[in-house]
Formats: sequence, structure tokens, C-alpha cells
Amino acid sequence: MHESKVYLVGAGPGDPGLLTIKALHLLEKADVVVYDRLVSDAILDLIPGGVARINVGKAAGRHSMPQEQINDLLVSLAHSRRRVVRLKGGDPFIFGRGSEEALHLHRHGISFEVVPGITAAMACAAYAGVPLTHRGLSRGVRLVTGHFRNDEPIDLDWRALADPDATLVIYMGLANLDRISAGLIAAGLAPVTPALAVQNGTTPAQRRVFSDLRNLPQRVREAGIGAPLLTIIGRTVTLADVLDWYFPDEEFPCAANHRSVCA
Ligand code: SAH
Repeated sequence: MHESKVYLVGAGPGDPGLLTIKALHLLEKADVVVYDRLVSDAILDLIPGGVARINVGKAAGRHSMPQEQINDLLVSLAHSRRRVVRLKGGDPFIFGRGSEEALHLHRHGISFEVVPGITAAMACAAYAGVPLTHRGLSRGVRLVTGHFRNDEPIDLDWRALADPDATLVIYMGLANLDRISAGLIAAGLAPVTPALAVQNGTTPAQRRVFSDLRNLPQRVREAGIGAPLLTIIGRTVTLADVLDWYFPDEEFPCAANHRSVCA
């Protein structure tokens, strides 16, 4: 019998066209696919009908499976199936807990491979015409998580992040946007620094808010957009004035996209 393997596969941000060829081939040859809620329906549609699927993400009214249980599930599936695909939104190693799963598999002596995916920062920026770096505007990028428990102080190094010469991308920051905006401004980042929030980037359900750092939290509330939300802060956001190109829902330009109307 062949050795079984677990493939930790990045599904990208939502647009199935952003899946890698390697990811697509693995989905087609999988014995079972374990996926979570960030994986878009358009990508799930690419899994052949006969392949078993296990949803470990949040479904309506249910909680997602705890990480320890997912880890154990991958181990037990590897004992009974040959090709286990663990499909995760974006890139498995960027805020995806893919590395925890890989460590768990390693501890249990199970072979694995990692297939990178296009992470939300790259995809949402590209689809908004926002280069993450640009000569003269941004000489670096930082990807940080904005997720903290409500009762905990936000554990971010504001001084280091308040860099006008770099682009800051915040994953999972929706609940803490007020504190993030205030923290960066208090650390010296200009309140007028351009900012962009993207919900469901690269999908037909994409919605966006262009604003500045000071007003972003309020604008996001007014627009009523929610998770999954990615925030991009920095001077390169202004390039979207010229480079913005992706308008998935032209029929409802304000609700969906048009920055001239929504900004
Ligand atoms: N591994 C993923 C990130 C998982 S953390 C990746 O590499 O992209 C979940 C967070 O990712 C969300 O809260 C949101 O901040 C961001 N995210 C993922 N997909 C997104 C999308 N299509 N649009 C906007 N944000 C997205």
C-alpha cells in the first residue's frame, strides 16, 4: 500500500481563477477534502462529485471545529485514506494555522506537503489597483492580525507599525478597527493616511470602503460591511484612483464598489 499524505493547500482568496494548477490537480485526485469557511463555493464546485468533503468551518448556527479536533481528524484520515487535501483560504501559512497542522502531522509521523495560495493581502490589493510596494511610496509591507479578545489589550507594536513608508495590511481586524486606527494615529501615523477595507475580496460579493485612517472605522460601519474583512493602510492606496479595475457587480456600483461613489 502507498504511503498516505496530507496536502495543506491554499485555495486563494475566493476567485477560482487564482487557484494554483497544483491545487486544482490535487482537488481532482483527492480521496477526501477537509475545508473551512473561507473557501469559496466557486472553488468547492471544482471538487469532483465522488470526492468526500468535510466542512470544519462555521456553518449557520454552528461553531467551527476546534483546532485540536481538526488536527486529530487529519491524522485519522491519513490512516484510512491515501490523499488527504486540507484546503484553506488564502495561503495555509499566513494566519491560517496551517503550520500548527503541519507540526501536528510531523509529530504523528505523517507525510505532508504545503501548496502555497494567494493570500488575501496580495489578492485584495491587486484587485483594487493598490500595489503593496511602489517606488517612492512604500518600501515594505507588514501583514498583522487585528484579532484580539475583547478583554485583552491589543498586543501590537504601534510605534513600529506607524511607518508612513510602508504598507500595513491587517487581517481579522473588523472588531478592533477603532482601536487600530486610534493606536496608529497616537503613534504618529497621519490621520489622513489613505486606507481601504475589503470584504469578500475577488468574489462577486466583494464590497469595499475607501477612506482615510481616521474615518475608516466609521465608514466601514456606515457601509455595513462585515467579515471576512481585510484592511490596507498606506500611501499606495491612493494609486487605486487610477489603477482600480475590478468591479464585479456593476449593477449596484455603490453597494459593491465604485470608489467615486462610496469614498
Ligand atoms: N490564510 C488566509 C487568512 C486567514 S485569516 C490568507 O492567507 O488569506 C482570515 C482573515 O483573512 C479574514 O478575517 C480576512 O481578514 C482575511 N481574508 C481572507 N479572505 C479574504 C477575502 N476574500 N476578502 C477579504 N479578506 C479576506
